[in-house]
Amino acid sequence: MIKKGLLYLLFISALSACNHPENNNLSPLQKLEEGSRRFASGKPVHPDETLERIRELKKGQHPFAIVVSCSDSRVPAELVFDQGLGDIFSIRTAGNVIGDYELGSLEYAVEHLNCKLIVVMGHKDCGAIKAFINSKGHYDHADHIKNIINYIEDENEEKNLTSADKLSIDKAIDANIAHGVAFLRGAEPILKERFVQNKITIIGALYDIESGKVTFKK
Ligand SMILES: [Zn+2]
Repeated sequence: MIKKGLLYLLFISALSACNHPENNNLSPLQKLEEGSRRFASGKPVHPDETLERIRELKKGQHPFAIVVSCSDSRVPAELVFDQGLGDIFSIRTAGNVIGDYELGSLEYAVEHLNCKLIVVMGHKDCGAIKAFINSKGHYDHADHIKNIINYIEDENEEKNLTSADKLSIDKAIDANIAHGVAFLRGAEPILKERFVQNKITIIGALYDIESGKVTFKK
């Protein structure tokens, strides 16, 4: 009986080990790239979703990456990078805009959780960017969506687009991602210092909602 129990435990731990597809020698970016490949090829393994993982995380979290992405229901970072509990420190707002609360969350993850990779991930066909383009600078509803549109309008990267490019959703999405990356690289006091000293990496990425693929902008 004891032997059977032991065999069962060995079987369960072997299963759990299989559920961690990544070699620990991979860098944080390589882990995201590998996970993205699994997801986009229709072969996700859904790692780190076991009860064992939940119990392990009770001791504390050590996410290996921070992903700033859109709140769009088609863009959950944990799914598109085929990761699980405790893997990604996730920040999501419509249009992946970054205000004080989001910046504070990023600083917390870098300073206290020791995350060394930040990815600002926009996505194709983003509704927030479409709303910005369609408003043509005249979004005049008295709601809080206005703050998001205004934020995107104020991004230098959007302002610097040529008049023709201002009508292109793809160009506007790229500009928005470039803004997020530049903003975080220069964000004092925590991120800028660490970025300049090469202690953290901050890059952009574009998620394609049709193919499920992520293109990193390294
Ligand atoms: Zn979006």
